[in-house]
Amino acid sequence: MGNEACRSEFYDLLDARGVSRRDFMKLCGAIAVAAGLSEVAVPKVAHALEQSVIGATKGNLYPVIWIEGASCTGCTESFAQMETPDAGTVVLEMISLNYSETLSAAAGHSVEEAKAQTIEAGDYVLIYEGAVLKGWDGNALRAAEEVGTETLVQAAVNANAVVALGSCAVNGGWCAAHPNASNALGVQQYLQEQGVEVPVVNIPGCPANPEWLMSVLVNVVIMKDMTLLLDRLNSMNMPDDIFGQTIHDNCERRGHFENGEFVYQFGSKEEALGYCLYPMGCRGPQTKSICGITMWNNRRSWCVQAGSPCIGCCEANPMNPGQNWVEVNTPFYKRHRDLRIGDWVVQPGTIALTLTGLVAAALVVHGFGMKLTGRMDGGADFEKVRAWDKKHPDKAIGKYDLNEAEIEKAYEESAGHPFDSAKDKYEGR
Ligand code: SF4
Ligand code: SF4
Repeated sequence: MGNEACRSEFYDLLDARGVSRRDFMKLCGAIAVAAGLSEVAVPKVAHALEQSVIGATKGNLYPVIWIEGASCTGCTESFAQMETPDAGTVVLEMISLNYSETLSAAAGHSVEEAKAQTIEAGDYVLIYEGAVLKGWDGNALRAAEEVGTETLVQAAVNANAVVALGSCAVNGGWCAAHPNASNALGVQQYLQEQGVEVPVVNIPGCPANPEWLMSVLVNVVIMKDMTLLLDRLNSMNMPDDIFGQTIHDNCERRGHFENGEFVYQFGSKEEALGYCLYPMGCRGPQTKSICGITMWNNRRSWCVQAGSPCIGCCEANPMNPGQNWVEVNTPFYKRHRDLRIGDWVVQPGTIALTLTGLVAAALVVHGFGMKLTGRMDGGADFEKVRAWDKKHPDKAIGKYDLNEAEIEKAYEESAGHPFDSAKDKYEGR
């Protein structure tokens, strides 16, 4: 078939899905942006899509295997909720989902057989959702009479790339929270331990945003260019265009933060005015992700816009299950007053804090190092002694292992802190 005939076949297919040529070019622009490409790449995306769709009609779909580890299937659910007709749907139609415990219509031996054949043929992408459980020699998770860890290794060795989808797959997520009885960890760390050399792309989030997965699939499936994908990854193997900035950097409430206008209580007039949620436990200053730009539910809203502080679900160090987002960020909806270093958790009220390098190290563990190293200009300051605690010692949240003179000095150095002056104003003190 000549080029023109192919093109007309392609637009007939789009028409049948209710997508006009104009809509299609808009889709290409959205896909290019989602895939971390510039506007210059839009015609290339359009061409790649045309070719892929035409290939798809001839049965040349790109094979994808989607395996569930220890998960709630929330990432699958999130992906399955994409609306039509949109970029995600077009991309979804470019792949052949040869295996998915949740989405495959088939079940049992036939679908296991499809997985085995896909692995043997090679040239596919593996999406792994959920934590890897090493506990009880991998028997903490078994599926189809196989040990979960072995299933992962078997599926990863022949893959072009493995996508660790969601915070559980990136570093164990909530499954790895204390006491981590099943010895949960992330895909990248486990595969490295097993000596499996395959590119791993980490997409954290609880659940992961479907548009983030789509952007990776665009690189691999449509552009068929692994270098485009690998060039996007940062030192944590996460696409840097998605996970390179903090939530706080792109937050619509940031102006209120700068003005010292905060919400201290749900149901207050400050909440109604849309003030900054930092005192309510917002982890936006330390969590890196573009939720405020991509948004959720087909770009309708996102956590902070909906009135909830960010609870930091995208925080996940792929090589350290101890730094899972639940462990690091609970209790939610409370300002950070507890710190964690490795297995050691310091909780105010139970253990006194000392103003030493240890605390500074803990702040770095929490990502606050961004501020300390000047990478988060205009971001949150962290009080040496919380001014409000100083004024109300009977109700103080923080405990300070300092004598009166040291507290006075630290307080002087923290004087004028926006959170506390705003809170005092709010409370009329
Ligand atoms: S602290 Fe949270 S609510 Fe406030 S500006 Fe930053 S991200 Fe937005
Ligand atoms: S805003 Fe925060 S809690 Fe909400 S999805 Fe993004 S990282 Fe997770």
